[in-house]
Amino acid sequence: MSLDPNKMLAPRLQSMEESATIKMAQKARDLASKGINVISLTLGEPDFDTPEFIKNAAYEALKKGDTKYTPVPGTLALRKAISEKFLKENNLDYNPAQIVVSNGAKQSIANICMSVLGPGDEAIVLAPYWVSYAEIVRFSGGIPVIVSAGIDEDFKPDAQKIKEALSPKTKLLIFSSPCNPSGSVWSEKELKDIADVIADHPTCLVISDEIYEYINFEDQHVSLGSFENMKDRVATVNGFSKGFAMTGWRLGYMGGPQWLADACNKVQGQITSGAASFSQAAATVALQHSKEEVLAMKKAFLERRDLMLTALKEIPGILLNLPKGAFYIFMDVSSYFGKTNGDITIQDADDFAETMLTEAHVGMVSGIAFGDHKCVRLSYAASNEHLIEAAKRLKNTLETFK
Ligand code: PMP
Ligand code: GLU
Repeated sequence: MSLDPNKMLAPRLQSMEESATIKMAQKARDLASKGINVISLTLGEPDFDTPEFIKNAAYEALKKGDTKYTPVPGTLALRKAISEKFLKENNLDYNPAQIVVSNGAKQSIANICMSVLGPGDEAIVLAPYWVSYAEIVRFSGGIPVIVSAGIDEDFKPDAQKIKEALSPKTKLLIFSSPCNPSGSVWSEKELKDIADVIADHPTCLVISDEIYEYINFEDQHVSLGSFENMKDRVATVNGFSKGFAMTGWRLGYMGGPQWLADACNKVQGQITSGAASFSQAAATVALQHSKEEVLAMKKAFLERRDLMLTALKEIPGILLNLPKGAFYIFMDVSSYFGKTNGDITIQDADDFAETMLTEAHVGMVSGIAFGDHKCVRLSYAASNEHLIEAAKRLKNTLETFK
């Protein structure tokens, strides 16, 4: 007798959406595997290889037999290097015991949500948000409370809006700066205003996701946790995937109050036992090395951003902000809703992304999964040639929609 998945799967799994970024990336791959020349600007992944010195550090670690379990929250060497980085670059004073290294920043966020949220607890998620925040909150038993800002507000909900969303049930606030998907960067003043609102609330912890810290084109990066009144109210999440082009190494980390680090350690001890030993050895070297390679990648991303923005501005009806960080363009395409090429009518952002994939062979992700119904996200972590060609294809295809 075979099992009925509908009876077998837990409600928390059934109500969970598949990751839209990963789903669209797979759709683009599927189309490409049929021999179609697809340009996939779906996944948020640097197209650069991991810098050579980091790979060499991993080879060395493997050769030395660094192939065993590490302490659950990460090796002391890596946690010390992270603690020094936090102090030097972010003005954050977390000792190594307050740091937990995980299998990606994604797991750091999941550890925190599972540690803090219980049934009925609310987590304020600033929209547009990274696709996994709302799903991880729900999976942890909490309720996402979405606070949004549109392109006219540079996609940054202000402190007043956050204040209005706080309730006695609020346990968390989650956002990323630089932001995935909008590329927006919160200024020091904007962060200070948020800090002042949160400091007055008795139960709200903040997850400040700073994974795009090194891909910030204009401002000095500011960590929310560095404000005096936020010292024990913030979990600072960061990782190696983006700035160091280490997505496949699966390494992220959090720094936060001792009670929270202890909780994440406990969750992780039961779920994964920690991150890979040789990834951690290489990441320790990455943090201690000069930032030459990181800066070179940032420079390339900036050139690509400007190239792509210039090309997209040639397409009528698309609204753009100036993304100051990360490697995404989050564009408002709502003026195309209701337009048709005779065969296909674009009703919403999902249709727009789907149609651009099937008709223009350019992969992107609908804004709906990021909590914004008017926009789509393009990742410009791709070659100049691909970006120019993608923009040309979009222009040609969109011209046929009236
Ligand atoms: N936060 C944000 C905002 C991201 O874009 C990503 C990218 N996937 C992550 C967290 C997770 O990164 P990773 O698990 O690869 O460290
Ligand atoms: N964070 C990346 C993105 O937004 C990678 C995919 C994922 O983990 O969702 O595309």
